[in-house]
Amino acid sequence: MSQQLLADFAAQIVSGDIRVVDLTHTLDPDFPVIILPPEFGQCARFRMEEISAYDHRGPAWKWNNISMSEHTGTHFDAPSHWVSGRDLPNNSVDSIPPENFIGAVVVIDCSEGTAANDDYELTPEIIQEWEAIHGKIPKGSWVLMRTDWSKRSGAEYLNMKDDGPHSPGPTPDGIRFLIDQRDIRGFGTECVGTDAGQGANHTPPYPAHFFLHGAGKYGLQCLANLDQLPSTGAVLFAAPLKIKNGTGSPLRILAMVPGDNS
Ligand code: MN
Repeated sequence: MSQQLLADFAAQIVSGDIRVVDLTHTLDPDFPVIILPPEFGQCARFRMEEISAYDHRGPAWKWNNISMSEHTGTHFDAPSHWVSGRDLPNNSVDSIPPENFIGAVVVIDCSEGTAANDDYELTPEIIQEWEAIHGKIPKGSWVLMRTDWSKRSGAEYLNMKDDGPHSPGPTPDGIRFLIDQRDIRGFGTECVGTDAGQGANHTPPYPAHFFLHGAGKYGLQCLANLDQLPSTGAVLFAAPLKIKNGTGSPLRILAMVPGDNS
């Protein structure tokens, strides 16, 4: 049964009946990272230095050394990233069971709201309006908030003002609805963090991080190409690097969607 299922899966990737969508930004020193208030430690941007390039340092090969934060670029947040998840079992990227990296994905399109309001927030009411059209969010789903924020670049991406960053995210009630009522696998966003730019002003501060990771759920940030995904019916593959005791990791995130031939 499952042998045939997997053979069919592989054949449909070859035939184009299943299409693979890359939800990942390119790792690049210019890609913005989150900026915290100056009294806190800071996240490092991506860096690459050449070891050799078919030259006297290595005549037949080219390679680079790279460095970055665990939370640079398109990346995965593990429960140990937040104080609320610090004592949970399997809370680091190296200890999460691998089957948890693969799951159904639903996309809640908030792009109209975020075009009009940089501080747009996802509430339980908006989620239930979405469900009235697309059906109840299945248990164990990845839930992605589409905002079209990935189409921004440079200063527009972090959108820093005098009072801090302004970007969309869930309200405390919105993220708690997804965790407590729908038992999701994790929550993903196109912005630099799972929380709204002004999430520090909520109670608790940064509610998406606090509630997701306290419940053993995962975060995905800096996603791209969400406009190429259906609202339902796709499968997400998001497997972070196996960093010992890692709190997160840059990764390649792929979605499998019904192709043009299907
Ligand atoms: Mn992160």
